[in-house]
Amino acid sequence: MATVSEKEWTGFQGLPAATQIILHTLLAKLRKQKVDKITIVLLGKGGVGKSSIVNSLFSERVAAVSAFRSETLRPRQYSRSKDGFKLTVIDTPGFVEAGRVDAALNSIRRYLLGKTINVVLYVDRLDGPREDKVDVKISRAISQAFGPQIWPHVIVVFTHAEIHLEDVTYSEFVSRRSAALRNIILKESRFKTVNTKVPFVLVENCSRCSENGEHEKLCS
Ligand code: GDP
Ligand code: MG
Repeated sequence: MATVSEKEWTGFQGLPAATQIILHTLLAKLRKQKVDKITIVLLGKGGVGKSSIVNSLFSERVAAVSAFRSETLRPRQYSRSKDGFKLTVIDTPGFVEAGRVDAALNSIRRYLLGKTINVVLYVDRLDGPREDKVDVKISRAISQAFGPQIWPHVIVVFTHAEIHLEDVTYSEFVSRRSAALRNIILKESRFKTVNTKVPFVLVENCSRCSENGEHEKLCS
């Protein structure tokens, strides 16, 4: 069984002031809707920055991160509480090895059985090479493992978002990179309802990222 840690969200104070204000507004909104907990799952290839996202979200070093080997050997759950609200993040091992979806996805599926999952963050690097064939396999495998009904809960997250490009503008690159992955997901996921827009967000986990005067990260 993975260790469960549940503590006060002390790292909240370390988030940029503007982010704290947005989160306070969000928490108040959730409280009104009588939502007092949210569970997020991170999925993706190894080394794309899943465990780093746990640390960025909580603004605390909770998950082990490594440039050289997989530190996340099995799913692991972290919870932090703030003003009666509990945020749980489930970090998982990468499930793609040498372009193939491996057995780790099945162990993630078993770990998640019976748990209520509100949001799935599918993580990939913004600056990673285009691997359309691998993305096709991953989209199919996710649909198979969890059922196509998972997709309305999915947000695509592109890490390593601070990149400097010579030949295209940042926004053009982001829109083409995201469209390519989202199109594959929509085509391969067998998730065919109207309103099929897979949202995406940009994330930079590196603490040396450029910032504005409010300590919010700037990616381009
Ligand atoms: P995981 O295997 O998906 O959990 O990936 P990790 O979170 O362990 O990250 C793998 C490596 O990428 C580590 O060296 C991290 O410091 C680095 N890393 C993760 N996210 C980012 C990011 O957004 N920007 C940069 N520059 N490095 C990152
Ligand atoms: Mg990890």
